[in-house]
Order: sequence, then structure tokens, then C-alpha cells
Amino acid sequence: MSEDCIFCKILRGEFGTEFVYENDYVAAFNDINPKAPVHVLVVPKMHIASLNELEDKNLMGELLSAVKTVAQKCGLKAYKTLINTGKEAGQEVFHLHIHVMGSKGE
Ligand code: AMP
Ligand code: ZN
Repeated sequence: MSEDCIFCKILRGEFGTEFVYENDYVAAFNDINPKAPVHVLVVPKMHIASLNELEDKNLMGELLSAVKTVAQKCGLKAYKTLINTGKEAGQEVFHLHIHVMGSKGE
């Protein structure tokens, strides 16, 4: 956990954010500025700054597995996933997250 990381604060429940999905390792919540009708962020519960800092292969599996579960729960048959890694690539929040974007029924 990181004191001033916005996603760690969300994970601590500081904003009362509703989780679309969660288990012991990951949580998923709606993006505050959605770029698609369904836009969910899947994050590890542990503070990991970016994909470059992720070494735990089990956690890699948990994250991708959660993406599939979230897509199913949100009624997405087709969806895009995105991981921005590094400022120059557009990463704004330095707590690893996978964007899951799509439209219900598509
Ligand atoms: P990235 O540019 O890949 O780091 O994406 C960061 C994402 O986090 C953006 O799509 C933001 O809209 C989203 N975001 C920032 N603050 C919050 C928040 N408090 N709750 C939900 N999503 C957020
Ligand atoms: Zn964090």
C-alpha cells in the first residue's frame, strides 16, 4: 500500500468506490472518465507501480483471469484491454491497472 496513491486509497475504501469485482489479489472498478460505454480498471491489491515492476507470475495470471471475469460480469462479449506503461506511453496513475473497454452486447 502506498500512502498517496489514488488507487491504493480506492482499495482502502477511502472514496466508497463500488467494486465491479474483487478477490484476494485484485479488484476492479469503473473508470472515472470512461472512454467506452463499459470502462473498468482491473488492479492488483498490492501497490505495484507499473507492469515493469510486476514480477509475480501468479499475480499476472490473476490479473488476466480477472479481466475475463469482469468482461463476463459486465456483459462484454468483445472488449479491448490496455496497459499503459510509463509516462511517455500515457500512464497517469502509477499503480498497475488494466483497462477493460467495450459495449454491452457487442
Ligand atoms: P492511465 O492513463 O493508463 O494511467 O489510466 C489512468 C486511468 O485512471 C484514467 O483512465 C483515469 O480516468 C482513471 N482514474 C483516475 N482517477 C480515478 C478514480 N479516482 N477513480 C476511477 N478511475 C480513475
Ligand atoms: Zn497504489
